[in-house]
Amino acid sequence: MVLLSRTTTILAQNTLSTPKLFTMKTMIERSSASGGKMGVQYKSPSSGRSFKKFSFPSSSKRIVFKQHNQQHQPQSSFQKTPLPLRLKLQPRAMSPTLRSTTKRVREDANPIAEEPPTKVQKVSEAQGLKGDNVPGTPLSGKDKKVYGKRTKAEFTTVFDLRRRRRIANAVRPTRKGMPASAQQGMRNLTGVLCYRNALLQSLLHQPQLRAWLMTQHQPQHCIQDEEKGAPACVACKLRTLVQAYWSGNKLSVHQALVDINQTFKENKWQNGMGGQQDPEDQLTWMVNKFSEQLPASHYIIFEAMTRFVLDSSTTCKSCGYVSSTVGDIEGTLAIDIKPRIPGGGDLGAYVQQYLTYKVCGYKCDHCKDATTDKQRSRKLAHSPDIVTIQLKRFNWAGQKDSHPVPINTLLNLNANRTSNNKSNSGYELSAVVLHQGSLNGGHYISMAKGADGQWLEFDDNHVSRVSGGEMAALTDKGKAGGFTPYLCFYQRVRK
Ligand SMILES: [Zn+2]
Ligand SMILES: [Zn+2]
Repeated sequence: MVLLSRTTTILAQNTLSTPKLFTMKTMIERSSASGGKMGVQYKSPSSGRSFKKFSFPSSSKRIVFKQHNQQHQPQSSFQKTPLPLRLKLQPRAMSPTLRSTTKRVREDANPIAEEPPTKVQKVSEAQGLKGDNVPGTPLSGKDKKVYGKRTKAEFTTVFDLRRRRRIANAVRPTRKGMPASAQQGMRNLTGVLCYRNALLQSLLHQPQLRAWLMTQHQPQHCIQDEEKGAPACVACKLRTLVQAYWSGNKLSVHQALVDINQTFKENKWQNGMGGQQDPEDQLTWMVNKFSEQLPASHYIIFEAMTRFVLDSSTTCKSCGYVSSTVGDIEGTLAIDIKPRIPGGGDLGAYVQQYLTYKVCGYKCDHCKDATTDKQRSRKLAHSPDIVTIQLKRFNWAGQKDSHPVPINTLLNLNANRTSNNKSNSGYELSAVVLHQGSLNGGHYISMAKGADGQWLEFDDNHVSRVSGGEMAALTDKGKAGGFTPYLCFYQRVRK
């Protein structure tokens, strides 16, 4: 440890916005564990009160003030920070309280070594949480009554998860306003847009996504300013398509598709180049655009509706040490279809394989053993309402694995929930994107369920009814015609 100390007098701006003369004592501490945190201690010559200011070199430019004298509570700097208008997509940064940690780190946590506040705390302010979820804060006597045996960090995790459930529940998935008579094909504008049409058809058939676009992201609440030269808002264009599609007007659907194509180009999708693309890449790109362009209050609802929060624990078979990670945010579950499940596993079995698997060649934090396998298990701390599952069929060289995987119409993930997660995690299939051929020379179509319960197949302009036999081929044999399922969309069954 290196410790530098010097005393100097500076004119500083204190937290109450009055310039005052402070005596500054600088301490620079470097510890290998923390990656080097810098602490500056301030002392007021008049009152004798001292403040400690931490800055965090890598992940955050923001500063936490912590007063040593507890008689008077200073206003913390992040409470004063104005609410951000936008959030960049940072899968982990959305929830600093759901941070990655091992049990040992949590037990040894130094109460003064506060986590850098990150963006979600600013979002939390919008929910009126103020500084409640600063992790690592020592508990007061009153807090102990409230939190019981749980640490404050654990409590705020529970709190964050409840908030996710609440805001997702507020958007009701209803097929009202989605009449079967409006379902229609979509023209392939450039000849290579089947991947996008297949994806859009699947998204258009998600009642909750439609409800979110129509009721939450209304044009008057959009902050993407086209007049100032910003590219058009991706969510707004999707909203226009949703509106046109379910009105049943072919002409306005065509216009909305032309607009979407233009907007995606403006927003630099594949740098304006043509060519066949992957619908999952397109979906990820769209979600990234939502996170960049939407007001934070709109994006967090979308996130709660469509993103998992997963806790995982890895058990060392050699010493029994359990290393855990909480709060991983995951959108599409990208499922490996290798190793094959003996006897021909269905999608549900591959999802289970994904959530519980052996980790090889990983060094144990505790006994340093890297030879034995470790069992990893992932649990659903938050179950989104719309689940997207991708079957990983393409390898790095673009070669396709056409192995048929039967698709479950009902997917039950209730056994995979954490003990705190009480929301029903049974899912119902609502749409599938299927693929035929090779990565570059292939074709995508989709199948989706309408308000009347009838499944339709959408092959660009062409729409046909899916017969019972075709549906059975998909759910029992894992292929339909020459097509293999690639992306599956599920809707949570509410009870
Ligand atoms: Zn918008
Ligand atoms: Zn071990």
